[in-house]
Amino acid sequence: MTSTEYRRFCSEMITSLVNEAQENHLHAVDERAWDSPFIGVARGDDPLFAEYKEIIGAVHWTPAEAFLLAYPESAVAAEELRVVSWVLPQTEATRADQRLETEFPAKRWIFSRHYGELFNEWLRIRVRDEFIRMGLKALAPTLLPFWAYRQTPQAGICSNWSERHAAYAAGLGTFGLSDGLITEAGKAVRVGSVIVAANIEVTPRRASSHTANCLFYARGTCGACIKRCPVAAISLAGHDKKACHNYIRQVTAPYAKQISGQEVTPCGLCQVRIPCEHRKPL
Ligand code: SF4
Ligand code: SF4
Repeated sequence: MTSTEYRRFCSEMITSLVNEAQENHLHAVDERAWDSPFIGVARGDDPLFAEYKEIIGAVHWTPAEAFLLAYPESAVAAEELRVVSWVLPQTEATRADQRLETEFPAKRWIFSRHYGELFNEWLRIRVRDEFIRMGLKALAPTLLPFWAYRQTPQAGICSNWSERHAAYAAGLGTFGLSDGLITEAGKAVRVGSVIVAANIEVTPRRASSHTANCLFYARGTCGACIKRCPVAAISLAGHDKKACHNYIRQVTAPYAKQISGQEVTPCGLCQVRIPCEHRKPL
């Protein structure tokens, strides 16, 4: 396959899995969890991944490091790797429910955080295995046994592989004041990725900066997400990850367990009722 054919294959495979698989379901409500996805591809040797080691911390893997963990016997140059990333947009029904909430996440949002993320895991496995079935070496970084949440001086709570940062590298969006990724489908999304050793056509990053889609960073206006956070974890200085983490662990997670019976950590109040909820505001 040529790199363009590979690219088309990736888009069609992921789009049809999201749009046709019965696993894309909220379960507790009889409707799909996610709308049609957006897909992007980054080079394995994109200099951004080395920068992430400075910005996030040394524990954040480059694609080559993640690849070696999955295939310790295989020497593959970073330039031969690709990061295939996708954005899963929340449905209008889920966003509409969540817009009404000010303290706790809506039921649909809780179900999408649990069953929708289970689907995202299923999707990582299916995409990885489809590449392997084609004779390629592939892995899903967040499914590696070594993947875990970490603490770094630069980023506080983080992990070995940030799906949002992979999506940014793959040209799928830029960061907003609340740290969320503002994509073509806005900020009410979840993201996923796999790494594969294949010459897939790369998606150009067209944004002028890593915060170009946010009205606050681009024009000094908006700040709507600040007002949506019940614990003031967003301010003009950015996102207080610790305050956010504490609210989720201490308040919304126990609430979500009551509602769904599941161990799940939703909030996302700052992802709706804002200009970047389901589109790029600029
Ligand atoms: S709500 Fe406004 S300030 Fe907050 S991330 Fe979106 S565009 Fe930026
Ligand atoms: S996810 Fe975090 S920052 Fe956003 S509203 Fe909830 S507590 Fe606030």
